[in-house]
Amino acid sequence: MTDGLSRPEHRALQREDEAFLPLPLQLSADPRPLAAHVRHLVRLLRDPQSTSPCSEAVAHVAGLFDRSVPETPEQPLACRKGCSYCCSQMVTLTAPEAFFVAAQLRERPKTVATIGQAHSLTGGLTVKARLRSKVSCPLLDDAVCSVYAARPLSCHGFVSMDLKACIAGLADGEPPNIPIPGLNVAMLDTCRMLYTAALRLAGLPVTVYEMNQALVTILATERAEARWLAGEDILAGVAQAPPPSRYDKTVAQMTAFIAPTV
Ligand code: SF4
Repeated sequence: MTDGLSRPEHRALQREDEAFLPLPLQLSADPRPLAAHVRHLVRLLRDPQSTSPCSEAVAHVAGLFDRSVPETPEQPLACRKGCSYCCSQMVTLTAPEAFFVAAQLRERPKTVATIGQAHSLTGGLTVKARLRSKVSCPLLDDAVCSVYAARPLSCHGFVSMDLKACIAGLADGEPPNIPIPGLNVAMLDTCRMLYTAALRLAGLPVTVYEMNQALVTILATERAEARWLAGEDILAGVAQAPPPSRYDKTVAQMTAFIAPTV
């Protein structure tokens, strides 16, 4: 909590925020819903009572994404359970997402070993080379994502309206040109901005990592999430994705607007 607001003002603002949190997010000029979600994420990440603040934060963003991008008859998706053509691409994610995925794997030693093997085959490859390697995501189980409810936002938002485009693009080994509904793309960017603003305001690293190496590191580190939240950069050695820049300005405006209220 900063000196910006008194305790009663914080409580009043929290009540105001709570009215926005269960609603689908409308992409509008009104900054209040975005600010409410960012403040909520900061509260979740700082919650000393939670056993996994990152899981709570990621579950909140995933739920928000789902209720904000309903499938419409005008833009039906080609994605179906058991279709996994897109699951041989490099997956990138934020640290909270990596902790959430890792939390699903603690009792799955075979999957953990497969992640290590995938990392030894693909670690250090470029996005293109990773795709050409045709190494499937180690979290796939019989062509189904085994961490579906906890899958990273980059997987969650990667949907297609054209199966043929997926097959053609991915068979070529070229980064595929997949038709994704415009609302999905906009909401994906918005959710990424929420993460970026919340991590920045919580004083945590705003970094995007390659998933397999992040998981290998987390799963080999005692109390990884708690230590990361306490400021120890346990992911410092993990390959990073280029920082997103197209929404830098918006995130800077968002954080400046919200900072006095967290
Ligand atoms: S995490 Fe799940 S959805 Fe994402 S690439 Fe891996 S198997 Fe596919």
